[in-house]
Amino acid sequence: LRKPFVAGNWKMNGNLALVAEFNQKLADVNASAEVVVCAPSLFLHAFDKDSFSVGTQNVSHLDNGAHTGELSVDMLKEAGCKYAIVGHSERREDQGESSELVALKAKKCVAAGVTPIICVGESLEIREADNVESFVGEQLDALINAMSVEELSKTVIAYEPIWAIGTGKTASPEQAQEVHEFIRGYFFKVDSQLAQGLRIVYGGSVKPDNAKTLFAQNDVDGGLIGGASLKAEDFISICQAAN
Ligand code: 13P
Repeated sequence: LRKPFVAGNWKMNGNLALVAEFNQKLADVNASAEVVVCAPSLFLHAFDKDSFSVGTQNVSHLDNGAHTGELSVDMLKEAGCKYAIVGHSERREDQGESSELVALKAKKCVAAGVTPIICVGESLEIREADNVESFVGEQLDALINAMSVEELSKTVIAYEPIWAIGTGKTASPEQAQEVHEFIRGYFFKVDSQLAQGLRIVYGGSVKPDNAKTLFAQNDVDGGLIGGASLKAEDFISICQAAN
């Protein structure tokens, strides 16, 4: 029913040599999942894009115009971008992006035919205070308030608990499933078909050796991969773990 989805998030890493290596090694990736590499936007033009798609890690919520340093969705599309990560916790923190802004960015992507990969997820402090559902629920509310069911159906949601990002502390398959089920249930209240078709992927220290059990959970439809997406062999094996 839902096609598995695996995206790499290179963050502020990589260079044209790594792009060339990925072009070569991913040429016959042979995974049943949809495979996406979200590299720094400067490199997007240099990817082959035949056996996998490319995406960006951010996008402006505005149209072309006087906005120094920003990249519009039209420009990114011209560079071959089919996906855009929006609302990554690193941007919510470093750039102070609010859930409302994230929703505007996601909306802009959908209107342009670019699929937003919308990130949500809690800090350790929120988890320890047992407030995961209210926190993630508020992040989802901003999306639901700003977007129609049709728009929401053209997105991918990434659940990325902040305490699991880059820490080597993966959420257990049960912890991931619990929140993914909560997220799907949240959208179910909006529209049952939307909820059933929506791809919800997990991010946070996904590695070749834990990918299969995470992706085997009922409501986990794939992953958003940071560190392990910088090594072609590791990334390919994670992609192949999603069936
Ligand atoms: P790591 O896989 O390095 O933990 O990063 C996850 C992430 O933030 C992907 O967007």
